[in-house]
Amino acid sequence: MSRIIVGGGISGLSAAYYAMKQPTNQPLIVLEATDRFGGWLKTTRLIDGTIFEQAARTIRPSGISGANTLQLVEELGLGDEIMPVSKLSPAAKNRMIYANGSLHSLPNSLMGLFRRQEPFSKPLIYYLMNDVITPKKHVLGDDESLYSFASRRFGNEVADYLISPVVCGICGGDAKEISVKFLMKPLFEKEQRYGSVLQGLFFDGLTKKRENLMDSRLLLRSRSEKWNVYSFKNGIEVLPRTLKKKLDSKGIDIRANTKIVDVELNKHSVICKTESGDCIVGNEIISSIPAFELSTLLKNHHPELASILASIQYASMCVVNLQYNGKVIPKEGFGFLVAPNEESPLLGVIFDSCCFPYRETTVLTAMIGGYKYHKYINNNTSEKEMEIIALKELKRMLKLDEKPQSVKVQFLKNCIPQYMVGHEMKVKEIEGYIKRNRLPLAICGSSYYGVGVNDVIFSAKKAIDEIRD
Ligand SMILES: Cc1cc2nc3c(=O)[nH]c(=O)nc-3n(C[C@H](O)[C@H](O)[C@H](O)COP(=O)(O)OP(=O)(O)OC[C@H]3O[C@@H](n4cnc5c(N)ncnc54)[C@H](O)[C@@H]3O)c2cc1C
Repeated sequence: MSRIIVGGGISGLSAAYYAMKQPTNQPLIVLEATDRFGGWLKTTRLIDGTIFEQAARTIRPSGISGANTLQLVEELGLGDEIMPVSKLSPAAKNRMIYANGSLHSLPNSLMGLFRRQEPFSKPLIYYLMNDVITPKKHVLGDDESLYSFASRRFGNEVADYLISPVVCGICGGDAKEISVKFLMKPLFEKEQRYGSVLQGLFFDGLTKKRENLMDSRLLLRSRSEKWNVYSFKNGIEVLPRTLKKKLDSKGIDIRANTKIVDVELNKHSVICKTESGDCIVGNEIISSIPAFELSTLLKNHHPELASILASIQYASMCVVNLQYNGKVIPKEGFGFLVAPNEESPLLGVIFDSCCFPYRETTVLTAMIGGYKYHKYINNNTSEKEMEIIALKELKRMLKLDEKPQSVKVQFLKNCIPQYMVGHEMKVKEIEGYIKRNRLPLAICGSSYYGVGVNDVIFSAKKAIDEIRD
């Protein structure tokens, strides 16, 4: 009997790849609802070669999950396609915040910590020292919001002007609701263990063991060339496209336009019903689809599990890609994030062409919505209206008055999970339910263990290693 993988985004394709590499040689079926594979990894190439990314655009090489992705990239033969952004480049070093009506550069050197820089009212070192003198607080339920943690340890200005915009930039979320463990789990744990974050960093630094990373050639290259992030010459979608080709070449049964609408899980079999009324039978299932989708598939047979899955919320975004002739932005950099207390639908703007220069053009991506989506956007909002909003905000914040050469507007409904306070506990409940009931089910993808491309690929690997462990 077969292993069924539901979802053909990057996590589903990675799960199929890792399953294919296992010695068991169990037949595999990958089921994707739409006519394309790759999920949120979607690249559009304009006639002149300019690249617009719909959602994810860069991958970090750091940490265990970063090393794992680099190993995958190497195994797929994509090493020569990589386009890295060096840690020393302006795109890595210059990050800006729009706050109190203007753009401000964030400090990017040690000396910068000792200088006062707007929008902060004191040098950043002051907020770091605040952490050292503030007593530890025992946090109820072992979780709190990122905002609460940052303001407790470092002060409100760090929470308002640094943490909140960064949370918007990463997941379009409200730092007052997102769990501290989403971004700052190690820092939170250091406070709880040592009394302050800085003390924790100091003591852990003394005893730090080197992570046992998979030392692929690409990982060594990423270190020697000091990569901050990377993408690929033809855009990020090359990764799922190459994975799909690899699976095809090994004869894996991969089906597009196959939306699953119900899943029945028995001890030794899984029955997936498709939208067109077919039944696909296997003995194990790996779900890589969003938790709210999996919830609808399981609601008839496992209502308790379905209700926990449904409680993992998602945010929507509107992405506006813009291409201009010539260099039109005032300063090279990664881009800017908008402080949430600004009255703006904009979460941030990425300066794509600073990361990956292409001829004499400027490419920007405006990210709009997130937790503010429904305040500014409804089902009737048109692409033209979104273009006008993006251009108006670029004029206000970047003083950019040029007319773009090309614009692409995309509404990404329920595209990114929101790890609210208590998320880790929810995931434990889901895992506990699956284990207790000995269900032939494993979960991976962005709903559970991290939203980055590295996280979801790593979650796919773990799901395959651990299914019915
Ligand atoms: C705007 C934005 C910017 C981002 N930027 C970055 C970035 O720069 N770097 C980074 O590392 N990460 C980034 N991310 C995160 C990253 O892109 C995603 O977390 C990742 O692509 C999710 O992959 P996935 O396979 O888990 O899910 P998805 O891409 O959602 O794939 C799930 C697949 O399952 C299919 N499916 C759903 N329901 C069913 C069903 N019932 N039956 C069959 N198939 C089904 C869907 O059609 C889809 O193809 C960004 C995300 C967004 C939204």
